[in-house]
Order: sequence, then structure tokens, then C-alpha cells
Amino acid sequence: MNLPRSRRRRRKHGLAAPHSSDRPSLSSSSSSSRVASHATGDSGNAASLSPELAEAVAISPFTRLGLSQPLVRAVVEERYARPSPIQAEVIPHALGGRDVIGCAQTGTGKTAAFVLPLLQHLAATTSPRIRALVLTPTRELAAQIADRVAVYGRHVHVRHAVLYGGVSQRSQESALRAAPDLVVATPGRLLDLVQQKLVDLAGITHFVLDEADRMLDMGFVHDVRRVVAMIPHKRQTLFFSATMAPSVETLARSMLIDPARVSISPAETTARTVDQSVVFVARAHKRALLQDVLRDETVQRALVFTRTKHGANRLSDQLDRAGIDSAAIHGNKTQGARERALDAFRRGATRVLVATDVAARGIDVEGVSLVVNFDIPNVAESYVHRIGRTGRAGASGRAISFCDESERPFLVDIERLIRHPLRVTTAPIRSAAATPWSGAPPREQPRPRLTRPPSG
Ligand code: AMP
Repeated sequence: MNLPRSRRRRRKHGLAAPHSSDRPSLSSSSSSSRVASHATGDSGNAASLSPELAEAVAISPFTRLGLSQPLVRAVVEERYARPSPIQAEVIPHALGGRDVIGCAQTGTGKTAAFVLPLLQHLAATTSPRIRALVLTPTRELAAQIADRVAVYGRHVHVRHAVLYGGVSQRSQESALRAAPDLVVATPGRLLDLVQQKLVDLAGITHFVLDEADRMLDMGFVHDVRRVVAMIPHKRQTLFFSATMAPSVETLARSMLIDPARVSISPAETTARTVDQSVVFVARAHKRALLQDVLRDETVQRALVFTRTKHGANRLSDQLDRAGIDSAAIHGNKTQGARERALDAFRRGATRVLVATDVAARGIDVEGVSLVVNFDIPNVAESYVHRIGRTGRAGASGRAISFCDESERPFLVDIERLIRHPLRVTTAPIRSAAATPWSGAPPREQPRPRLTRPPSG
């Protein structure tokens, strides 16, 4: 088959269409889905497909996973050439009705891994009740999952609503009155609405807990347990977490029955597509170094991570003063301000977004060409989440970490987690800012020994 070069490259990586310009217009985000959405009711009959599309659906590897034609049609239209590893493993179990515990972070395609089977189960019957619940820690993530539900579900009759705090509940009330089959929610707002008797969870047959580790980190465990106590015991549960710390395992054990275990290791997902490097630099020089890096015009869209909200604001102000347009996004900003900043970043109006870990959670922006760890995260898993913002689904990306003397132990933890050392570099920095802190290993010096050899 004669495919354009970009598609051939995507095929080689096993994933597809990283740029929205490559995608059909139907696949673009539907902002209305942030409140609620109805599938438009195209039945997805073979008769309504062009011969080319019908053939693409018939031979799609998604069909072999057991997915119905209208769902495969939607992913084919999204130009997904083949399932990502997490999708290939989770979808058959989930379609078979089994509980699943999936260890994978965002960027691996895990949303489709649970949304597609949910849609298939829901489309098979009708009911006036809410039958599926997806619980997720942040509003951004909730909005993005709902957006995917609208995209993957556009040829089936499944209604959904999305519920999160920080915005008026009025539009969410009307979405609930439209009798959704599936609800995507953050725990706080969901419990509020349950208390007001606007949501009834007694009809739930399918439950997804997304980003369980982050739920625990953010202190939502009691809310999650309260929600689980309200939904029927007889249900299917799909449980996802980027990490499997003992506290996550305990939570999983309390809500899953004989689950299939699926694990996509961080090493597999980060090392493949993201060019990762570290620069040893004194703290006082980090700012100048960042400006240098961002002045490189080949950097189209950069996400810069700081550890604190205050740090994010300060850095964004400093960049603006240096003539580099940027916006900061963190938990202290209003929902409106966060969405405006994200939107400008998505559109390309703002080239640089400075974010904290929590605020960046679930940001799904295509074409992030560079992630800068201005501060090295003190929790190694956060590194994986951060760099997962670039090199998404087969696209290539770059991640640079600025490491000062005090952050050295965090770097060792990260290298242990991802099972390979980061490349030490001074490039692409041109200014004297890259002066390393005293005691930084010279470039050629062997890196610290790791518990396991690089996975290659
Ligand atoms: P997620 O990990 O669910 O946040 O997905 C990350 C990105 O990968 C999203 O932009 C999806 O649209 C995209 N994606 C998911 N599955 C596939 C696939 N099988 N092929 C190509 N892109 C995909």
C-alpha cells in the first residue's frame, strides 16, 4: 500500500496520527463534551461505510480484539493503526467481563483501553440508569476522558456526562437529567451530587478507577472508598495506576475480584520514544539555562515543570520579562484560568507552559516537543508522568532535566526506576549558564551503577 511517509513512520512505531492536522476533522476535541454529550446516533452499519472504510475496519487489528464495528470504525477514523500494548492486553479481558488491574501511565493509550470495552458493553443494551462510572482524580483528566468517550463513541448510542468541581453544577445537572449511560467524574463533585440526590449509583455495572496512585497522593482515598461503597458489589471493575505501591495494592484488593493483571513498565514506555538527557547545573544558573533552551526555535511547544506553584508563577513571570511568552498552570489557578492557559497552549498561541505535577496531570496536548524538568521531581514516578507529556503514542520528543547538587539523589532514584541512566549533556545550551555545579561528574565519567542494566 502506498502510504505517505509520515504514516509509514507511524506504522513503524505501531501507533498513529500524533498530529491533529493528520486526523480527520471528526477527531478533534469536542469542548461540549466537557459538560455532556450524546452520541449522534450513526448506527455504524456496514452499509453506511465506504468500501475503503469497511475494508479498513475489517482488517483492523482492533477488530481482532473483539471490538464491534462502530467502535473500530471510530478508531480507524482516528488513524490508530494498531492497539498499543495496554490496549491489546486490556481490551479482550474487559470485553470478556473480567476485572482488570492495569499498571500504566497516561501516554500509553490506556484511556481507549477502558473506554472502548465500556462503550461496547453499554451499547449492547439500553437502560434509563447510569450504568458505568469512571472515577479520575483531576478535572483536566475527566474532561479529556469525556472527550475520548465522545470520539470513540460517535457511532454508538451511548450518552455520557462529565462531573467535576470548580465550575457551576448547573450544566452538569442538565446533563444528568438527560439520563446518561456513562458518567466520568472526580470524586468530590460526584459525592456532592449524590448527596443532593442528583446522581444515583445503584445501577452501576461497570466501574473504572483511573490513576489510583494519584488518587491516593491527592488524599482522595476516603472519597473513593465512599463511592465504591455506594455502587453494587456485582459489577466489573477496571483499575489503573501508574505505580503499584503497597497502598495502591491494598486499595486494589479491596475492590477487585480475581483481576487479570496487565503491566506496561515505565522503562518500556519512556525509553522508546523520548530522547532524555540531564544537564548538571548550579541552581542559580537554571533560569539563564532555561532561557537559552527555549530560545531555540526548533522548540515548538515546551512544558516546563517546577516543584511548587509559587515556583511556577515566578518562573513564568521571569520568562515573560526575558521576552519568552509563557503561561503558568497550577492548582491555585481558577478552573477558567487553567483552561484558558491550556487552550492557548493547545492552539500554539503560548509556546511555553510552566506547570506543577498535579496541574499537569492528564494534560493531553499533541505536539509537545520538549519537556524541561526545571526542578528534578523528588518522587521518581513523577518523572515518568512528566516526560510522558512528550513523545506521545509513538511521536518522538525530548526531555531535559536540570539537576543541581541537592537534586542528585532524586536523579539516582529516577534512573533506578526507568532502568537506564540519562544521557549527560551540556548541549543544546550555548551560554555560560551551563556551568556545572562543583562535583558534577564530567561527561565521560561512568554513570552511577544501577541495580539493573539498561534495558536497551
Ligand atoms: P492516553 O494514554 O489514553 O492518554 O493516550 C495518549 C495519546 O495516544 C492520545 O492522544 C490518544 O489519542 C493516542 N492513542 C491512543 N491509542 C492509540 C493508538 N492505538 N494509536 C495511536 N494513537 C493512540
